[in-house]
Amino acid sequence: TGIEELLTSRIRDVADYPEPGVMFKDITPLLADPAAFGALTGALAEIAVRNGATKIVGLEARGFILGAPVAVHAGIGFIPVRKAGKLPGATLSQAYDLEYGSAEIEVHAEDLGAADRVLVVDDVLATGGTAEASLQLIRRAGAEVAGVAVLMELGFLGGRGRLEPALAGAPLEAL
Ligand code: IMP
Repeated sequence: TGIEELLTSRIRDVADYPEPGVMFKDITPLLADPAAFGALTGALAEIAVRNGATKIVGLEARGFILGAPVAVHAGIGFIPVRKAGKLPGATLSQAYDLEYGSAEIEVHAEDLGAADRVLVVDDVLATGGTAEASLQLIRRAGAEVAGVAVLMELGFLGGRGRLEPALAGAPLEAL
C-alpha cells in the first residue's frame, strides 16, 4: 500500500548499532518528514479509535514521540510508561528479562483504572519483552487492554508469539 511504502522509505537501517551484529531501525528520517510522520500518527490514531481505546500508553522513549500526537489526534489521554525511577508519584512497576540482565518499567498508579481501555504505542516490537511488561502493568492497574500498535515488528525475533498470552485476544497491529 501507499502508506507502507512511504513509511518504509523513511526508516534507516544502521548496521552494528548499538552493538556489533545488530541492524538498528532508525526512525529519525520519518520524524523529520511531516507527510510520513502525519501518515503514521493518523494511522495509529485510527487503530486507537477502531479498538475503542480510552487511553494511549507510550513506552519510553520513542513511544512518547509517536504516542503523544496519536492521543491528541484520537482525542484521548496519554500515559507515559517510564524506565524505573523517573516518575514522581506512586507507581506500579514491572520487571522483565533482557538478553543479559533485566529492566524495569513504571506507570503512575492513579493514571489507569477499571474505566480504561488502553492501546500501547511504540516504534519497534523486537523480542516483545517491553510491550509484554507494559500489558502486565495495565492489567495490574485494573484496566483493559485494547491492543498494541507499532510502526514495525521485527518478525524474526518472535515478539508476536511472546505477546500472545498477555494480549489475550486483543490485537497486535504493525504498520
Ligand atoms: P523488545 O522489548 O525486545 O521488544 O524491544 C523493544 C524496545 O526496544 C522498544 O521500546 C524499541 O524502541 C527498542 N528497539 C529495539 N530494537 C530497535 C530498533 O531496531 N530500532 C529502534 N528501537 C528498537
